[in-house]
Amino acid sequence: MSEVVTLGEAMACLRADGPINLGGGAHISVAGAEANVAIGLARLGHGVSFAGAVGPDRLGDLVRRTLRAEGVAVGALRTDPAPTGIVVFEQRMTGVTRVDYHRRASAGGTLSAGDVESAFALHPSPPRVLHVTGVTPALGPGPAQAVQAAVRLARSAGARVCLDVNHRARLWSESTARRTLTALAVQADIVVASEEELPLTGAGGGEAELVAGLLAAGVSEVVVKRGAAGASVVTTRETLHLPARPVTAVDPIGAGDAFVAGYLSGVLDGLPAAARLARGVTTGAFAVACHGDWEGLPTRSELDMLDLPDGSAVR
Ligand code: ATP
Repeated sequence: MSEVVTLGEAMACLRADGPINLGGGAHISVAGAEANVAIGLARLGHGVSFAGAVGPDRLGDLVRRTLRAEGVAVGALRTDPAPTGIVVFEQRMTGVTRVDYHRRASAGGTLSAGDVESAFALHPSPPRVLHVTGVTPALGPGPAQAVQAAVRLARSAGARVCLDVNHRARLWSESTARRTLTALAVQADIVVASEEELPLTGAGGGEAELVAGLLAAGVSEVVVKRGAAGASVVTTRETLHLPARPVTAVDPIGAGDAFVAGYLSGVLDGLPAAARLARGVTTGAFAVACHGDWEGLPTRSELDMLDLPDGSAVR
């Protein structure tokens, strides 16, 4: 049984070795916010199911094979006639990456409420957590309805709902994003946002007012990601902040998804808020210190690895 169900667009990703306009090599892999979280949770030993759609092409095979190889259940990953979406990363210089999406009319955008109903029907008992992000409703009406259906089904089954705001400004207008994300946030138990994204979850005000508004609406914890400054969690009982783990940053993209995987792993393990945050900060640091969105994410036995002194050999 899956402890977590997530849904969204898992894409193929091309990571160029250098400036793309000069040609040269690229590494082919898999990307997508919810897929990253699914892999991060599976690495930590949790049962995760991914609902989505890929194309009837070799890139779709890669996505399916990678998720399956990482231990993510793919029974709800449909093959659609549309092609698999592609995202292209060009690390222009250390710390600056260009991201170019090719996802218009892609298979991931055909995700519908029916897919979500099938995903929930696959399991006799409901998941403990549903994880959704703000990327999926921005893909179009079908994916937006899929997210709504997932939230409705999760809530009626007593599952906790986690929303990572994950705003993609190129996919929709800020006003549409705010309207949709505010409506979703108040139905969630856990809301995760970066400092810049938090205003998309409410009518206005500073961080304290926005967080207070979410808690008053019934959200049980609001988690704010602060990049290299760490992360905070606010519940009705406490406010905690943890600084980031000091690592050499080689590839910051994917840190947010890695953080969510660690944080949700702490939720599933029943850890107190400080320990949930510590696990999220740790998995976020792993993502930053390794190349790729998910490739460097830790297994459970590797979580303590950041405590090792620089230059350690693990034998
Ligand atoms: P992205 O969209 O690139 O995945 P994000 O904006 O969603 O990122 P961040 O706040 O950048 O998320 O990162 C999530 C968490 O990862 C942070 O809260 C922090 O704990 C960790 N993190 C991010 N950057 C660094 C860094 N340079 N060094 C150590 N840890 C980091």
